[in-house]
Amino acid sequence: MLKMQNLSKVYRTELVETQALNDFHLEVKAGDFVAVTGPSGSGKTTFLTIAGLLESPSGGLFELDGQDVSRLSDAERSRLRNEKIGFIFQAFNLIPDLNVLENIEVPLHYRGFKAAERRRRALEALERVGLSGRAGHLPSQLSGGQQQRVAIARALAGSPKILLADEPTGNLDSQMARAVMELLEELHRDGATLVMVTHDPQLAARAPRHVQVIDGRVIDSQHLSLAAVA
Ligand code: ADP
Ligand code: ADP
Repeated sequence: MLKMQNLSKVYRTELVETQALNDFHLEVKAGDFVAVTGPSGSGKTTFLTIAGLLESPSGGLFELDGQDVSRLSDAERSRLRNEKIGFIFQAFNLIPDLNVLENIEVPLHYRGFKAAERRRRALEALERVGLSGRAGHLPSQLSGGQQQRVAIARALAGSPKILLADEPTGNLDSQMARAVMELLEELHRDGATLVMVTHDPQLAARAPRHVQVIDGRVIDSQHLSLAAVA
């Protein structure tokens, strides 16, 4: 599903050059659930930015869903991003004056779905996250955990090939964090491909596969069976 080989990313400003990723290797197969941890500044956000087709790598190979996406134009990248990627952010990023259903429909507009199809997909995604009863609520009328579940529904509604989550529980208390993690686990059981960046070692340990990024490299990856963790 996602394959990065010898990937590098260099940020240049007038004064400094930062090698954010260096000889970065990672392969994520369809149906994997991978947690990515690592110290601050190690390159996790850079990795997600490239994986999510927001930026191109400086060098190396990046394949997404069987296609070489290492060197694409901005237009091609955004088209593929809308089609194949679902993002989940730490801060939810819901639009405050749109209701739950309208928020979920936002990315579907970019995909060119007609109104009836947008509504059908949004309702189905809302049901998957267990919030069918909240369709007309504004984000401010929901708890943080519910807001994140709406954001997950928004990510799911476009039927992405891969879900990328950046600290999805970082703004939640431990009880709501657990509920969101359980939802991600359920999506994984249903076949979703998930990559989650987190600072939280306990959360990372719950994922079937855990990868560490240090100094822009994947230094350690271990495969654990779900049964071994349970
Ligand atoms: P995290 O991913 O650890 O939650 P950030 O991605 O916001 O945090 O930032 C990680 C590191 O990258 C920080 O040290 C921050 O200063 C640095 N950083 C982020 N964006 C830029 C930028 N545009 N220019 C320089 N450094 C940046
Ligand atoms: P993490 O998410 O693990 O905290 P980042 O990927 O944000 O790490 O950052 C990796 C390195 O790249 C850091 O040294 C950071 O300062 C640098 N960096 C990240 N984004 C930018 C940017 N837009 N411009 C310049 N430097 C950046």
